[in-house]
Amino acid sequence: MHIDAPRLLRRLDDLAAIGALPEGGVQRLAFSDEDLAGRNWVQYHLEALGLQVRIDEVGNLFGVLYPEGGPIDAGAIMFGSHTDTVGRAGRLDGSLGVVAALEALEVIVTSGWRPARPLVLASFVNEEGVRYMPDMMGSLFHAGDLSLEAVREARDRNGVSVGEEMDRLDYAGKDELTDLGIDTFLELHIEQGPVLETLNRHVGIVTGVQGLSWFEVTVEGASNHAGTTPMDLRRDAGKHAADLAARLRILTDEIEGLRLTIGSMTWYPNLINVIPDRVVFTVDARHPDPATLEDAENRIRSLCTAAHRPEKGLTVAWKPLARVAPCSFASGVVEAVADAIDREGLTGHRMISGAGHDAHILSRCYRAGMIFIPSRGGVSHHPDEYSTDEQIIHGAQVLLRSILSLADYPTSAS
Ligand SMILES: [Zn+2]
Repeated sequence: MHIDAPRLLRRLDDLAAIGALPEGGVQRLAFSDEDLAGRNWVQYHLEALGLQVRIDEVGNLFGVLYPEGGPIDAGAIMFGSHTDTVGRAGRLDGSLGVVAALEALEVIVTSGWRPARPLVLASFVNEEGVRYMPDMMGSLFHAGDLSLEAVREARDRNGVSVGEEMDRLDYAGKDELTDLGIDTFLELHIEQGPVLETLNRHVGIVTGVQGLSWFEVTVEGASNHAGTTPMDLRRDAGKHAADLAARLRILTDEIEGLRLTIGSMTWYPNLINVIPDRVVFTVDARHPDPATLEDAENRIRSLCTAAHRPEKGLTVAWKPLARVAPCSFASGVVEAVADAIDREGLTGHRMISGAGHDAHILSRCYRAGMIFIPSRGGVSHHPDEYSTDEQIIHGAQVLLRSILSLADYPTSAS
């Protein structure tokens, strides 16, 4: 079976037209009118294929292809991504995974072949978490890690809750998926990093997602005049914070594979001629191995403790902001993707995802896996986000072939 490349590319353009910004780029923020229009577009195509459409209580959208003879409750294979976007997005992040999933389903439906277990397209709400925290809200709800109440009570900067927006837009449904016995989730996505492009490989075989740990560190000292206070009498929170930040950064030389970023630093009172009395900065630490991530977290805490010097009038306090454990994808799904790449005559590369995805959340309840295609310059979350038509087609074809393999399509025929 082969995807219809012109149809796939046309549909990516069609979806990108929904929420298109006059200055370029796309905006379909979660639970907005444009977001609903994007979801309706997917729903329209699912219904045109004769698939059963289900919408759950937070607005996640599913399209179900039943096996010959109607519903059975065994081992459904789910695949998809998300159609919400960041504020000024490109046309591929999320949309690629949903449009390619739609294409795969359309090819299978029109082939006349029916798998022995249900196939389910999934489009999860609010993956981006731009308007409403947390990100990956829809898959967290689906996985049972976030309650309906917590979703409904999330508020944007204007104080508008998800519940209010869902009611205004008639966004939510009441459908469940428990009868499908879903056991697998596969997501095609752009890499959003430079690895595949740098290595010149066609497709990424994603073996897991690195974990993440965020801290907020507050350093306090005392403000004083920058001209009159001798250097040895200062309790300079700025110098102390800068030294600590530099020491934390050195952890990346000491822990193989650690990514550590101090992306935000706020100085008080933030004036040119005043010694700062307080600095607040963030630490973003990531690693694919659970034990190594824990080691990094312990060392971050130790360095903060060592820098806490109340006897010198300099204190350091820290608090965790967020933590997501690393995940390894299921070997059965990873190997299905690797095999599909081989059979397509493409070059693959086994890699860890640097960014979080719905598949990461869903790996807690299903056998999960991901397929990456190269991102030019590693750019995403920006109108310049780009993959070539050929790369998009390769990704969709590998998705289709992986689904067929997971659904036990006779290999001699594929
Ligand atoms: Zn995405």
